[in-house]
Amino acid sequence: MFKAIYLSKDDDHFHAELRELDDATLEANTAGADVTIDIDYSTINYKDGLALTNKSPVVRKWPMVPGIDCAGTIAATSSPRWAVGDRVVMNGWGIGESAWGGLAQRGRYRGDWLVRVPAPLSTRDTMAIGTAGYTAMLACMAIRDAGVVEGDVLVTGASGGVGSFAIAILARRGYRVFASTGKLEEAAYLKQLGAAEVLDRAELSAAGKPLQKERWAAVVDSVGSHTLANACAQTRYGGAVAACGLAQGMDLPVTVAPFILRGVRLLGIDSVMCPVDRRTAAWTHLAEELDRAHLDAITHEIPLAGAIEAGRQILSGTIRGRLVVDVNR
Ligand code: NDP
Repeated sequence: MFKAIYLSKDDDHFHAELRELDDATLEANTAGADVTIDIDYSTINYKDGLALTNKSPVVRKWPMVPGIDCAGTIAATSSPRWAVGDRVVMNGWGIGESAWGGLAQRGRYRGDWLVRVPAPLSTRDTMAIGTAGYTAMLACMAIRDAGVVEGDVLVTGASGGVGSFAIAILARRGYRVFASTGKLEEAAYLKQLGAAEVLDRAELSAAGKPLQKERWAAVVDSVGSHTLANACAQTRYGGAVAACGLAQGMDLPVTVAPFILRGVRLLGIDSVMCPVDRRTAAWTHLAEELDRAHLDAITHEIPLAGAIEAGRQILSGTIRGRLVVDVNR
């Protein structure tokens, strides 16, 4: 038997609970999986908050074990790519949405979804980084691949998971980072991560002009809506804007002006279906570049029993940094 967060829905009645499951139930609900993992850690992401509260239709199969990421050790495998004892990290591919996820002590996944935990990271480190840090790295890779290797970079949703890691990665890579936040009281934390300046997000969150003063060589945005539109309108000639998220909204009230008059590139970032080679590259960069002191500053740890309440908190936008879930505590 093992513990898991278990989401169910009957006659439109939604229920979230911590319960004990057996291996036969896990196997019956994970058809196509060929690797069983003893999970050490999972995390709480914004999308997990949506699933844990049933606030938006993230879960597409019932019952569901939520959790869009996890890390642990392989307990059994029929995949030729893996051996018992290998330490692996799992992000996306629809786990916690259409396949059973990581907020549990045991999970079963497809071997071609997994990435080896890169040295010197531990399984806990990979979940301190989690989908947020991995997504931030995909965004930073996209900006560098677009040829923007220096200059002023705006990070929106700065105190959130994606934003916090984007600041740390970009500062370490030598960019001058401007952190936009609704939590100005977190300015010291954002500067500790590497932000040169902290902006009030109110400067970006209302409707603005289609073209504004050129400020940013690049942008990492986890907010969407007017914030992303203003960020595009303020990006310099030839700059790059990486769109990661929708914390303010899914809309994008932008004109074509920044793209056709300034050659601004809008780069879509998707962590869920990202090909294995690129996700392996992202995890390798994270292992090489991240300062471990930043991991401690960004992360708070909670037990599995605290996951449901944490899901409510992350939607309220009050959580700073990342929540790591020790599923065995
Ligand atoms: P968090 O909740 O940790 O961070 C989001 C941050 O956005 C908040 O901390 C807050 O930062 C800011 N924010 C919240 N509400 C608003 C608002 N109404 N208007 C403006 N800013 C707001 O989430 P994550 O960092 O984990 O994820 C960020 C976004 O990225 C989410 O939308 C998520 O769904 C998406 N995402 C996308 C992925 C992909 O594959 N593309 C992968 C992972 C996440 P502050 O107070 O500092 O302004």
